[in-house]
Amino acid sequence: MTHDDPHKASERLTNVTDRLARTADLVGRKGDAVTLIAVSKTQSVVAIETLIAAGVRDFGENRVQEMQAKWPDLLARHPDVRLHFIGRLQSNKAAEAVQLCDAIHSLDRRSLVDALAKAIEGNASPPDLFVQVDIGDEPQKGGVAIGDLGDLLGYANSKGLVVSGLMAVPPLDVEPAPYFALLAKLAAEHRLAGLSMGMSGDFETAAMLGSTHVRVGSALFGARD
Ligand SMILES: *Cc1c(COP(=O)(O)O)cnc(C)c1O
Repeated sequence: MTHDDPHKASERLTNVTDRLARTADLVGRKGDAVTLIAVSKTQSVVAIETLIAAGVRDFGENRVQEMQAKWPDLLARHPDVRLHFIGRLQSNKAAEAVQLCDAIHSLDRRSLVDALAKAIEGNASPPDLFVQVDIGDEPQKGGVAIGDLGDLLGYANSKGLVVSGLMAVPPLDVEPAPYFALLAKLAAEHRLAGLSMGMSGDFETAAMLGSTHVRVGSALFGARD
């Protein structure tokens, strides 16, 4: 169970936060301009608590069922932790996601706007919402097509949802910078401040190009089983 080794975990965390701080400094951004989300999918509660003890306060999960199994107890013990939903969200799970999460990064279609609007109605502290963009034209990954982004944002607005940013996962095994730059451009065009982009292999590049939220899993927890 090397994943739970507190010494290793804190070493990995220091490595990631140092690199993030160095990158931010290099491009003249404030050290706290980028929120580090520890992606804890498939990771144990023990491994998660090790990172909480080391100071991490933002975590990401990509499956509602797994989130419901792990997080109600964790959030009860650590009420200052913020949970981010980063996976494909079924409309019939929107209420569960809204209940547990501080942010949802995967709003990508009108039917989910409807479901989220209903789930958020009357909620005193609704989650931050990011629209996921299919930045590399890979529909299997989820995300709204670039050409449909304006329409979806307008629809969300008409339903009373406040969208705070854009999220994307660029194609594997190619230079991600152009995709990050494109997402930043789209966010600027739509006057959205949030940019959820960057993972273990490319969070420094993403931070250079304006990311406000990096979603880092294996670089913090070690490789997933
Ligand atoms: C798993 C996952 C991540 C983290 O991936 P790593 O390569 O382990 O950092 C980030 N974003 C999304 C949407 C994911 O599903």
